[in-house]
Amino acid sequence: MNAPDLIDKPYAVSERIAPLVRRVLARNPSPFTYTGTQTYIVGDAAEVAVIDPGPADDEHIEAILHAVGSARVVAIACTHTHRDHSPAAAPLKARTGAPIIGCAALTLDDDGPRADAAFDADYRPDRVLADGETISGDGWTLEAVATPGHTSNHLCFALVETGAVFTGDHVMGWSTSVVSPPDGDMTAYLESLSKLYERQQDTIYFPAHGPAVEKPRQLVRGMIGHRRQRERQILKQIAAGHQSIGQMVPLMYKGVDERLWPAAGRSVLAHLIDLERRSLVKREEEDWTLVAPNS
Ligand SMILES: [Zn+2]
Repeated sequence: MNAPDLIDKPYAVSERIAPLVRRVLARNPSPFTYTGTQTYIVGDAAEVAVIDPGPADDEHIEAILHAVGSARVVAIACTHTHRDHSPAAAPLKARTGAPIIGCAALTLDDDGPRADAAFDADYRPDRVLADGETISGDGWTLEAVATPGHTSNHLCFALVETGAVFTGDHVMGWSTSVVSPPDGDMTAYLESLSKLYERQQDTIYFPAHGPAVEKPRQLVRGMIGHRRQRERQILKQIAAGHQSIGQMVPLMYKGVDERLWPAAGRSVLAHLIDLERRSLVKREEEDWTLVAPNS
């Protein structure tokens, strides 16, 4: 994956990227985090919010505090609790006194082969936002948009004043989202994509990784199409007698770096669970079979 080398990596500095929005990039690049986690600071005046504080890395935390300056941090808001998103919340709270407000806590050992996607078991929110609840400061309002799927506790945050949406790991322009059972849920993920698609007021997405998305609904529609296409591929594989995930992945991901196959296998499993719920397939140990329409 060489694309990250082509764009700027301004680690540990704050950049203005849109009205009311600044960004600080954490130095945790990887094949799964692209150039690193992007922490967003919302608000230009006396009160700000910090979205996805990122990994508990001293350089990154100092850069966030420098960007905040003398403003009051009204909320430290996390989209979800993968370890590349929320661990800096506690040290930032200790340094600023700000409350941690946003997604619910969730503890699972790990949700798959993606090393940095282990959950942050130490995350302790002061307030959990339900879908549609808001937090605000002078000149800005953030609305929680519940978007389970990548994780069960995932929230996006919509900046009401400008139509920007902070999409966390739910929708990213550079990569599809990892949906890895048991916590990752393809049924929920697809519903959460449709939910964003229906929001006509959104003007731009700021994902936690990778560049901003300037035609958000077009991207979401493409992502829904991509997942439906994967689903058809899986049904075809089963029909052709390739009934285990181990058989399907090398055929479906031919030409893709083999190191990504374990993650691809999690995604195929997520699709199969969704298809099973819809009574289109059934499982017998490692093998999956099609359910005849009338059986
Ligand atoms: Zn994540």
